Amino acid sequence: MAKTISIVGLFLLLVSCKPQENCPADNNQDPDLISKEDHKLLSSSCPQPNDPNDGSQDPPTDPEDGPADEIPSEAFLFDANFALTDFDSKDEVKVSTAIEIIKKVIRTDEFRSRVLNFTYNGEKKFINSDGLTNEQIYQKLLDGAEDLRPEVDHEMDLDLELYYSNRSTVGYTYASGLRIWMNKKFFNIYTPAEVAGNIFHEWTHKLGFKHTSNYSLSRESSVPYALGYLVEELGKKIE
Ligand SMILES: [Zn+2]
Repeated sequence: MAKTISIVGLFLLLVSCKPQENCPADNNQDPDLISKEDHKLLSSSCPQPNDPNDGSQDPPTDPEDGPADEIPSEAFLFDANFALTDFDSKDEVKVSTAIEIIKKVIRTDEFRSRVLNFTYNGEKKFINSDGLTNEQIYQKLLDGAEDLRPEVDHEMDLDLELYYSNRSTVGYTYASGLRIWMNKKFFNIYTPAEVAGNIFHEWTHKLGFKHTSNYSLSRESSVPYALGYLVEELGKKIE
């Protein structure tokens, strides 16, 4: 396991997209660090793709699916169990709002449809999908079975800690624990939907999904990035 984590740490997931820079690789090669996302979620500092095959232009439902498809009951059970460290009362309100946004997004037909119909290069698939189909990824989200909390509880188990750094890192996490560190520099200026997208991105790492360390168009279609963006986008309609 330690070897696996080390390999992951070496090859994946060290993100450093400084504002005004062209997303250089980060030199902070902590072998256990599995995710380090930079402002803004990773988005504005990295060029946003406008790939017509990225799934965002897909029709809301697949005609072949027919009207029999419904949002599974697990989506309505989906909940979050979270612990907060170094959040003041105002921060708590924002993060609680963000988590409520995630729960509302999960319950929407649009979220389900966008995950199931997500495409990369014309194929219904995500990058770094861990060999899973879109349907299996959707189910994995609803199951809420983190690698370190593997029971199917339909719940995001979150351990969030706020910290302050003047660097461009939005947040980071390690494979060895549930804790997700979130930089107040960005948390303070993010809307709840943006915080929701950031949390969801990091949470997919807890489900075992990874992405490459350096920016690329394909990385935008990795499970963490694509779903983080999707939650933020749909969350903006809710907040
Ligand atoms: Zn990440």
